[in-house]
Amino acid sequence: MTTVAARYAASLMNTFGAPKLVLTRGEGAHVWDENGKEYVDLLAGIAVNSLGHAHPALVSAVTSQLESLGHISNFFTSQPQVELAEALLARVPGGETGKVFFANSGTEANEAAIKLTRRTGRTQIVAVEGAFHGRSMGALALTAKEAYRAPFEPLPGDVTWVPYGDADALAAAVSDQTAAIVMEPIQGEAGVIVPPAGYLAAARGIADEHGALLWLDEVQSGIGRTGRWFAHETAGITADIVTLAKGLGGGFPIGACIGIGRAATLFEPGNHGTTFGGNPVACAAGLAVVDTIESEGLLEHATVLGQKLRDGLAADPRVTGVDGEGFFLGVVLDGIDSAKVAAAALEAGFILNNPTPERIRIVPPLVLTEADAEQLLAAWPAILDAAEEATT
Ligand SMILES: *Cc1c(COP(=O)(O)O)cnc(C)c1O
Repeated sequence: MTTVAARYAASLMNTFGAPKLVLTRGEGAHVWDENGKEYVDLLAGIAVNSLGHAHPALVSAVTSQLESLGHISNFFTSQPQVELAEALLARVPGGETGKVFFANSGTEANEAAIKLTRRTGRTQIVAVEGAFHGRSMGALALTAKEAYRAPFEPLPGDVTWVPYGDADALAAAVSDQTAAIVMEPIQGEAGVIVPPAGYLAAARGIADEHGALLWLDEVQSGIGRTGRWFAHETAGITADIVTLAKGLGGGFPIGACIGIGRAATLFEPGNHGTTFGGNPVACAAGLAVVDTIESEGLLEHATVLGQKLRDGLAADPRVTGVDGEGFFLGVVLDGIDSAKVAAAALEAGFILNNPTPERIRIVPPLVLTEADAEQLLAAWPAILDAAEEATT
């Protein structure tokens, strides 16, 4: 009998490397593989499964919406679409002057944002090093890393990069030609990097000084991940554009580009579009996520249990620090290869990932239980032991 892994290799393009596991089912923060082995899922489909796996509220919302009205195109609208737009605007800073464009992914939300910035009549975008905004030609154009860009050039131009967290460098790069400044309020793919206090507020000031838009990519950091709806809430600022995806659908594909103030009305009919974006099922999923985060008190939960996780992980002397907030954590290792740690964790029944050679990312479902967290903390020293053994 041919294995699923062999059939995968024969039938799927090799963009991701070989899959680590064949998973068959999930429940809460747990998943099982084809051999019946159980794992605690601390990756959540890369910060996506905010309600964990098979949450009854999400299952029921998607199922009942699909049973009544699944897809209608954007010639029409539906109650869930309008309700989700209202729910996002009610929570995002400045949302009272905002409007939403729905897409199907983070990349697509960002593509909408790129086009929105062009409607200012300016073309320059100032982006930051270490950023990740997606894989499309537009999103890739915002990526500084030469190795990612080079195979696909020429990419859309007029992008300038500055080091993340350096307000002076940002001020020097932005001019009256700048359409927008784009950054993640906390960088995800870079390994969960928190900028210095005051950086987002400085970016807001610099954008204002030059009439540029401030666009915050909250695709990974948004919708409860930090213990707040939006990571930038504590910065005391209003962005012009906020993009969302990952956690918003709880596993159902959806993205959103929120324009605030002037950016809410830059698109005119015909400027942008999508067939699937904002479909009733995806929006019902988004509503179920927002409602459940609220009804189960998951923001507070992510804050409290996130702190406990971070303290527990940092207690090992082989960890030099833990960055991030809530359930958005980057564990900095002292000389142990993060790939070895991720492999040892998997062996021990924990799914986590290694975005950089020094950092482990922990982005569990917001429904992670105290017992799940304790299970990881109990296993953590042995996971590091095994990784060290594999390194030497
Ligand atoms: C994942 C991610 C994206 C891309 O989202 P996709 O849904 O994979 O297209 C964009 N921005 C950030 C910050 C992300 O983490």
